[in-house]
Amino acid sequence: MGTSDAAAAILTIDLDAIAANYRLLRDRLGGAVCAAVVKADGYGLGAVPVARRLVREGCDTFFVAQPGEGIALRAALTDAAPACTIYVLNGLMPGTADLYLEHGLIPVLNHPEEAERWTRAARDRGDALPAILHVDTGMSRLGCTPADAEALATIPDRLAGIDLRYVMSHLACADDPGNAKNREQLDLFRRLRNLFPGTRGSFANSSGIFLGADYRFDMARPGAALYGVRPLRNESNPMNQVVHLQGRILQCRFIDRGQSVGYGASHLVAARTRIATVGVGYADGYLRSLGNRASAVIGGVRVPMVGRVSMDLITFDVTDLPEDGCRAGDLVDLIGPDHGIDDLADEAGTIGYEILTSFGARYERRYLGTD
Ligand SMILES: *Cc1c(COP(=O)(O)O)cnc(C)c1O
Repeated sequence: MGTSDAAAAILTIDLDAIAANYRLLRDRLGGAVCAAVVKADGYGLGAVPVARRLVREGCDTFFVAQPGEGIALRAALTDAAPACTIYVLNGLMPGTADLYLEHGLIPVLNHPEEAERWTRAARDRGDALPAILHVDTGMSRLGCTPADAEALATIPDRLAGIDLRYVMSHLACADDPGNAKNREQLDLFRRLRNLFPGTRGSFANSSGIFLGADYRFDMARPGAALYGVRPLRNESNPMNQVVHLQGRILQCRFIDRGQSVGYGASHLVAARTRIATVGVGYADGYLRSLGNRASAVIGGVRVPMVGRVSMDLITFDVTDLPEDGCRAGDLVDLIGPDHGIDDLADEAGTIGYEILTSFGARYERRYLGTD
């Protein structure tokens, strides 16, 4: 018996679908640069295989959140793409400038103090150092305030020695095209970018790319859409599905009317019912909020999840299936062509991003489209 037969669940990641999604996004950008956001280990799908596949598609600009992620990515791309650019979104903490320089990482400067730190590093080195300047237009998270940005732009030497590659900002409501906040942020971003004449702009995440040409600027930073997440909340999903998650049925049996299923006895059956138990649980990132709400697909038939999610097990009502259509050892589609990442996210009351980044370490991972 190979490991595949023993694996309780198989997570198949289609790198060719990610490549197709990259092309689809790039084609919408009218010549602007299409970077790829691969933070949080490529949204849980593997930053290294994802980035290596995107390099083959011509992508040469990556964003991570943390310097450690950037160091690992840089090491993994030294042969395939030694010249690629890696930006670190979470900024430049005290004492880390040398680390960025050693590993060829470029900081997104989120605060005037970070700009000062980078200016000092440039002076010490006697060389200009590249950076992105992040201005906050409405997230109130990271980024310089409008007043900070004005000071940086007008007080001489505040950006001395910094080769400002882009001014960037981030949208709060981009998945909701009707939201007035998008236009407000756009107006403020235009005003703040004009403080730095001649500097390129970067504004759109995945969803922002679908808000229209005004939002493109010179570089977009998509993440989620590359991985198949729907970019606009209430519209159909133009992206290719990337993830296929199959759980294995460990046991299948009938229970009698009046019996309950799982912890808390939260599901009582009103008639004789056939239950399939699958070897996946919240320890695998199958969120506990899916209890009594999720569904799966077996042999083309959608079956409801019943009972709570356990650490290692979940249970489905398979009474509607023929008895030989559901047996121990069979695989169930937990995420698949008929039940995508956003469907599962809707059932869990969350977003596809959280489903992706919650995938645990126990799945057997298979990559399609590797080099
Ligand atoms: C995560 C992130 C992105 C990518 O966002 P998606 O919605 O996944 O496309 C872009 N920019 C910033 C600043 C981010 O933090």
